Formats: sequence, structure tokens, C-alpha cells
Amino acid sequence: MAHLHRKRINEKQHEESETDSDKSDVSGSEGDDTSWISWFCNLRGNEFFCEVDDDYVQDDFNLSGLSSQVPYYDYALDLILDVESSHGDMLAEEQNELIESAAEMLYGLIHARYILTSKGMTAMLDKYRNDHFGRCPRVYCSGQPCLPIGQSDIPSSSTVKIYCPRCEDIYYPRSKYQGNIDGAYFGNTFPHLFLMTYGNLKPQKPSESYVPRVFGFKVHKP
Ligand SMILES: [Zn+2]
Repeated sequence: MAHLHRKRINEKQHEESETDSDKSDVSGSEGDDTSWISWFCNLRGNEFFCEVDDDYVQDDFNLSGLSSQVPYYDYALDLILDVESSHGDMLAEEQNELIESAAEMLYGLIHARYILTSKGMTAMLDKYRNDHFGRCPRVYCSGQPCLPIGQSDIPSSSTVKIYCPRCEDIYYPRSKYQGNIDGAYFGNTFPHLFLMTYGNLKPQKPSESYVPRVFGFKVHKP
């Protein structure tokens, strides 16, 4: 079941990529032996997600409270863990789609918790060092690498943003695919806890800032 759906989503993504000039193509890998988690993290737009350890997902304690937030919880969890569901074949196409989106949501909410653990933070550190989260667009931040952040921990309240540790402001991600990801899958604590944990990565505040001038003279505020 899972494989069929992966294939279909890959095709959908492929169609989208053909009409789009933004070519940061990350097509899902085709291999049957790819786990759902690595397949999901390699989809275009999902570059901010790290791969959550299977062990973490399998521990009920880490998932407490999520069963009431995510529809089709048991099916979604089976999909994430690549467990062949015994009911899978009996489900209608429509239900499978609902389970797929439930799995995305469940993974996102697990991810938000995981990246606050030391293992998750190490995974995100690796991504940060490899520039997976983009750079600050502000000129005086000189290409400072950013970290993903949600403005809220509540699902569906806002999309993911990037946080610049130098100017301490948030921005829209550059890719529109990333711009559609729910901010709650990263949460509003992550970059701050990350920079507390890896204090040496916290950059100096920018010394320069932009000054508006007209014919070389500073613009006075009334
Ligand atoms: Zn900045």
C-alpha cells in the first residue's frame, strides 16, 4: 500500500516540477527499500525536516497526546514505521489519501518534539552546517545561515519561517514548497534551545544597519 502511494506522490511532484522554474529538484527516491521517513524527508519542500530515529517513534512515551490530535492515528503510525497494515487493502482510495495526510501531520508533530532532544538537535546541527535551512536575506547579516521556526506550536496556525541568529528576526523561506509547511512541525522553541545548546554557534549581532539617505543626506524623521 505504502509503495503505491509513494509512487503516485512522486508523479504528482514530478508534474509540478515541470511547470516550475525553481529547480531545486529533490525527487523522492524510487527504491522499495527506502523507509517512509527518508522518502518523506527527501520530498521537495521537506528539506527542513531531519530524519527522526525509528526508536524514538516506536516509544509510546514520546507520542503521548498525539493520538487525539491526529486522525487515523494507528494507520498513520503504521505508515510512518513501514508496518504493513492488515486493513490496508480494504481501504478506499479516498481513505488512503486521508491516512497519507494524517501521516504527514503525525510525523511533523513527532518531529517538533524530536528536534528538542539531544539526538534530534545533533541531526539538525548537521543540517545547519550543510546550509539546509537557507540564509538570512538581510544584507548586513552577510549570508548568515538560518534555522527553521514556527510562530506557534499549534498546528495549522502559521507556516514555517526561518530565524536568523544574527539579526534575531524571522523571514519567509525562499522556496514556495517550504513555505507551505506547517510551522508547528518545528515549533517556536527550537532555534533558541539550539543556540543555547550550541552557544559557540551564536553569531555576533550585526554592527552595521542600513541608513536611508536622500542625495547623500540622512532622512530626518518628523
Ligand atoms: Zn539576519
